[in-house]
Amino acid sequence: MSGVFLEGIVKRYGSLSVVHGIDLEIKPREFVVLVGPSGCGKSTTLRMIAGLEEISDGTLRIGDRVMNRVAPKDRDVAMVFQNYALYPHLNVADNMAFGLRIRKTPKDEIAKSIEEVAQILGLTEYLERRPADLSGGQRQRVAMGRAIVRHPDVFLFDEPLSNLDAKLRTQMRAEIKRLHKRLGVTSIYVTHDQVEAMTLADRIVVMADGRIEQIGTPMDLFNNPVNTFVAGFIGSPP
Ligand code: ADP
Ligand code: MG
Repeated sequence: MSGVFLEGIVKRYGSLSVVHGIDLEIKPREFVVLVGPSGCGKSTTLRMIAGLEEISDGTLRIGDRVMNRVAPKDRDVAMVFQNYALYPHLNVADNMAFGLRIRKTPKDEIAKSIEEVAQILGLTEYLERRPADLSGGQRQRVAMGRAIVRHPDVFLFDEPLSNLDAKLRTQMRAEIKRLHKRLGVTSIYVTHDQVEAMTLADRIVVMADGRIEQIGTPMDLFNNPVNTFVAGFIGSPP
């Protein structure tokens, strides 16, 4: 598994700067959660790591490789989105196989991966179904399965649970935690939910207005917030 290193990362849209120079070192196998209010630059930061947005300034490394100019498909990174982004016309197996087929993975290897990952996620009985015939939680599992089958070095999650009801959110949170324990993939997880951040993170990165306010373990932030913003964000009840 690789570490992820951001050095002075800046994002500008034209003359408008939205991420103002982020420095962050994520260790291999670490689970880091980016939290902060809507519009503070969490998704933009994640999308730059995935290669879905160009980096305006600074250096992104994954492992020892500089990634600034590397195409998304050539990064060993898989992203799970809030809206699942499943293909409605494909069944579960084909949704999960999609990324592997793009990479010209041999057929028998694809079948083996899908079987294995379906087992891990409890999707074995649903492989022939279309997304429309699944529950919200099952769809989210398929979205995660699609990321896992690629055996990426880094997982990126952008508010993956925010479309689910509270009960399912709690359940999926536990599943994500279990998956991380089992697979040990370096993970960067974006949320605006403090409870998710506190329960999932090895370290939390609190962002505001395109900057990092504080980085620390959940207990660090809870006990020693550097300012009232962090205190309000982490300390306030959900
Ligand atoms: P978050 O995920 O924390 O809610 P985003 O990263 O989506 O925040 O957005 C950060 C800021 O960048 C916001 O002010 C948003 O309006 C702006 N932004 C995002 N995408 C674009 C774009 N394509 N063009 C211009 N501004 C954008
Ligand atoms: Mg966002």
